[in-house]
Amino acid sequence: MSLPEELTKVIEITRVHNRWRRFECINLIASENVMSPLAEATYFTDMMHRYAEGKPRKRFYQGNIYTDEIELMVMELMSKLLNVKYVEPRPISGTIANAAVFRVLGNPGDQALIAPVQAGAHVSHTKFGTLGALGIKQIELPFDLDNWNIDVDKAVKLIEEIKPKFVTLGASVYLFPHPTKEIADATHAVGARVVHDVAHVLGLIAGKVWPNPIHDGADVSTSSTHKTFPGPQGGIIFTNDEKMYKTISKTVFPWFISNHHLHRLPAMAVTAIEMLHFGEEYAQQVVRNARAFAEALASEGFKVLAEHLGYTKSHTLVVDVRGLGGGAKVAKLLEDANIITNKNLLPWDPPEKVKDPSGLRLGVQEMTRFGMKESDFKEVAKLIRKVAVDGRDPKEVKKEVIEFRKQFTEVKYTFKIPEEFERSPIQVPMLL
Ligand SMILES: *Cc1c(COP(=O)(O)O)cnc(C)c1O
Repeated sequence: MSLPEELTKVIEITRVHNRWRRFECINLIASENVMSPLAEATYFTDMMHRYAEGKPRKRFYQGNIYTDEIELMVMELMSKLLNVKYVEPRPISGTIANAAVFRVLGNPGDQALIAPVQAGAHVSHTKFGTLGALGIKQIELPFDLDNWNIDVDKAVKLIEEIKPKFVTLGASVYLFPHPTKEIADATHAVGARVVHDVAHVLGLIAGKVWPNPIHDGADVSTSSTHKTFPGPQGGIIFTNDEKMYKTISKTVFPWFISNHHLHRLPAMAVTAIEMLHFGEEYAQQVVRNARAFAEALASEGFKVLAEHLGYTKSHTLVVDVRGLGGGAKVAKLLEDANIITNKNLLPWDPPEKVKDPSGLRLGVQEMTRFGMKESDFKEVAKLIRKVAVDGRDPKEVKKEVIEFRKQFTEVKYTFKIPEEFERSPIQVPMLL
């Protein structure tokens, strides 16, 4: 029997996607990354079909002898990597991690102060997202454009005045570390708690190029596990506060997850081990690349923000493309040339510009994993210029992008898959 037409179509679309995004594009989305081949090999496992409600060794289902061991390893490895006492690895995304922590720290009707939306607060921190769904009211911390950061003096006054239940720090456009210590001191003085969401910078913290907010006074941290930290898509919560950890764990299950996508766990363990070995080298290269990319774009004539502050201390940079037709237009043109970015609101954009904002957000972490160095990002800046400034046909530039990308197909900062392992005859490799 020949395959149903829809089936052929599904397979074909998947193959084309894999080839396109994995080998033919320059990916500059700041919230994405790729796992190592070894982590991928441990991701496609039988664990994806299993349930393990509860904590390791206290499950509601049998069959978890090995998943328990792996989950405990993830907790231990991540504790070591982040130098914290307690790690809760079960949230299936950063948003779910936030939901569990926000729910523990606040009741419906309570107030929370959040990093300003203009400064890149994630939708889950806002009334439009998780905070809103929990009925917790948001008030934005003041932002200081000159420092591209939260305005500490005004923030402290606001905390004293509002006396919120908790304050969130961290952002999705994260160029410079937020002032955790100053905010934590003021927040603790009114009996409230600080959550620092490090979704974007977890890999930089693991690589010791970004401050760990738990060491600077935050009560608890939430994160995704797939942005600068190159693990499987998922979430994580960490803290040094035992009571908080226990309360949060009881909230994660049964309130916010039932199964926790167990196949993430071996891949998380592999990624943690790789980060223990190669994380510092990787994170240092990410930061050097981001700076070099910003400088290269500026010398190609782009308006890269925060120039007076050295552009960025993270993996992310922001470019004002108002003069080039706006974020929506430029991002689409670049996509047609196989350069993948996202449009982004800039601090001075009104919220209604969300569909056509003035900026582009760019991140270097994934291409750094594929081996790009400072000089390679100069080439990327030139390719972007051809499309966005010189008005070259994106389809023509796309050919150059595909050619250029051929030098960067192997994931670095990783161990090789040992050859002695047998592959199951039913294990399906990625369709290409
Ligand atoms: C990406 C992000 C999240 C949540 O991400 P998930 O997609 O739910 O894993 C949360 N907070 C910040 C600051 C983020 O950037």
